[in-house]
Amino acid sequence: MTILVTGGAGFIGGNFVLDWLAQSDETVVNLDKLTYAGNLDSLKSLQGDARHVFVQGDIGDRELVARLLAEHQPRAVLNFAAESHVDRSIHGPGDFIQTNVLGTFNLLEAVRAYWAALPEQAKAAFRFLHVSTDEVYGTLSETDAPFSESNRYEPNSPYSASKAASDHLVRAWHHTYGLPVLTTNCSNNYGPYHFPEKLIPLVLLNAQKGKPLPIYGDGQQIRDWLYVKDHCSAIRRVLEAGRLGETYNVGGWNEKANLEVVKTICALLDELKPRADGQSYATQITFVQDRPGHDRRYAIDARKLEAELGWKPAETFESGIRKTVAWYLANQDWVENVTSGAYRDWVFTQYGAK
Ligand code: NAD
Repeated sequence: MTILVTGGAGFIGGNFVLDWLAQSDETVVNLDKLTYAGNLDSLKSLQGDARHVFVQGDIGDRELVARLLAEHQPRAVLNFAAESHVDRSIHGPGDFIQTNVLGTFNLLEAVRAYWAALPEQAKAAFRFLHVSTDEVYGTLSETDAPFSESNRYEPNSPYSASKAASDHLVRAWHHTYGLPVLTTNCSNNYGPYHFPEKLIPLVLLNAQKGKPLPIYGDGQQIRDWLYVKDHCSAIRRVLEAGRLGETYNVGGWNEKANLEVVKTICALLDELKPRADGQSYATQITFVQDRPGHDRRYAIDARKLEAELGWKPAETFESGIRKTVAWYLANQDWVENVTSGAYRDWVFTQYGAK
């Protein structure tokens, strides 16, 4: 059996491919454009493993996707491929529309044609799983209930608007054409192989280089954090047993203010790799101008996934963040390689990390 994963050289897709192949004999065809965010270094451990077939290409290339589907006959397609960074979407929304909206549309069309021609049994068993974000729901006040699957979509950034559009396309392809789809909307992920343009890896990188740890605004923006391997297990569970056409929120019940997250990382670094001068890494915290339209709070109500499919995260925030800090300290070569990539200049210009 085979599954087709898109965006499998990115942060979550890469973790998913590694996780999947650690517990399944199925082949994974991994279609990834290798944008600045795609990094085959994260999949180095799979070199020589015939179960991993990497193809560099665009989800918007319908002919390529059709060819891959015909050749490999996957039983499922999991769509992780996206432009994913909110700040980049503010500076240049075009790529987000291209990949997240048009790319998903073209992918859906190629998959629909493949699925429609499958023999009845394979057709019934086929799944298209779309990986999305909680940011499509907009922002919450401090007293609002966490987002449930019935919340209205109210995206506020070009990124979340483009993801919302893709979610709607996926939903429509189910209702209109009967395509057997599943959608997951997950909170902020953290863990191994995360590019240092996002808060947690950026703080880990800057801290060790003695650079400022930039905090937007007052640092009281609240996010719900999930260890990436728990996101992977949720996706596996939804793929296995999710009800067709349904969306499932994925979250860890771990609401934390950004400043608290950064202070936690500093405390762990103080313990695991103390600064030579004996000072805390927290002295490097620097407040910078807030992001325009910055959502104040995201929180996920994951009870549907927990009650219906029996999923539970394995990590608390405390255990997951400790693992993450330890992983970055033990994998400095990965960090060095990724920071010499093409995306580096942009990150450094934006965050003064140089
Ligand atoms: P990422 O930016 O780390 O990786 C995206 C991957 O997609 C990269 O490998 C990139 O090369 C590839 N890609 C981009 N455009 C492509 C295209 N047109 N064709 C083929 N490949 C392309 O992103 P991530 O953090 O791993 O996120 C993966 C998915 O999960 C995204 O859909 C994102 O919206 C969603 N998500 C992310 C988070 C999070 O906290 N990171 C949370 C919830 C949901």
